Amino acid sequence: ATPTALLVGTGRGAQLGILIKGPQILESTRRVDTIVLDKTGTVTTGKMSLTAVMPAPGEDASEVLWLAGAAETGSEHPIGAAIAAAAREGGEPLPALESFTSERGLGVQAVVDGHLVLVGRPSWLSAKWEVTLPTDLADQQASLEMAGGTVVAVAWDGRARGILAVSDTVKVTSAAAVAQLRALGLNPILLTGDNERAARAVAAEVGIDDVRAEVLPAEKADVVRTLQQGGRVVAMVGDGVNDAVALATADLGIAMGTGTDVAIEASDLTLVRSELVAVVDAIRLSRRTLATIK
Ligand code: ADP
Ligand code: MG
Repeated sequence: ATPTALLVGTGRGAQLGILIKGPQILESTRRVDTIVLDKTGTVTTGKMSLTAVMPAPGEDASEVLWLAGAAETGSEHPIGAAIAAAAREGGEPLPALESFTSERGLGVQAVVDGHLVLVGRPSWLSAKWEVTLPTDLADQQASLEMAGGTVVAVAWDGRARGILAVSDTVKVTSAAAVAQLRALGLNPILLTGDNERAARAVAAEVGIDDVRAEVLPAEKADVVRTLQQGGRVVAMVGDGVNDAVALATADLGIAMGTGTDVAIEASDLTLVRSELVAVVDAIRLSRRTLATIK
């Protein structure tokens, strides 16, 4: 490949809102046959909002939200931000945290108002803290997830006190982008730490049938590596701190412009407009640029 043609391609990329780390990256872009898409913030907007508060029997909904929201003030996760924002809207000022720890991809624990409060994946609360949801809440969890929501459990002082649902929406261009990627011969896969039911709901909306859900941050790169060992040339598209290792592992890492700095640093391409259709532009550009060189 002549350096000049590649540089022209890189410049054209910039005009399309695709920042390319180096001219040689167009070569790996052209070879890609599989595209792994992070769900939250990549296929969806990532702007989460609270959609439901369900207290356990005998508990008060506003207290559940208040203590959960206070605990989440320590979190930078979009789920935490949505819960804290909704709790603030309740009017009561949120108390300061006496301590805070978060486990990436699982949830948070904080001491609030003298209570040890847990907010996180229901399976994390049961496996790590032996806190299980009462049956009716577990049923509610299933139906909220089926509708595409992400459900987190809230507990304090060792007892489940309720569940909260948060959700965001699919970006308007995601479904069209997935269809175009398929038309270019690429295989789309949805990858997320979120629950299987919510992941399937989003996948159905954009036309993806290969879904890898409930994947812990540390395991996302393993999914990419396994695909590579199976002979695939893999592009990974993501935005989060959780995606950084997978982005670096992939043959081509693609970050959303709205993504975290670590995701952008780990990637070969950055999409300024944060829309998946730009991936389609990048693939087309790489094919065109390299075709003229031959
Ligand atoms: P994704 O891959 O969709 O970005 P994450 O790996 O960040 O998802 O999170 C996976 C799951 O961990 C969430 O769906 C949620 O159940 C739980 N979780 C992560 N962070 C938090 C938080 N701050 N509060 C409550 N739950 C959380
Ligand atoms: Mg994400």
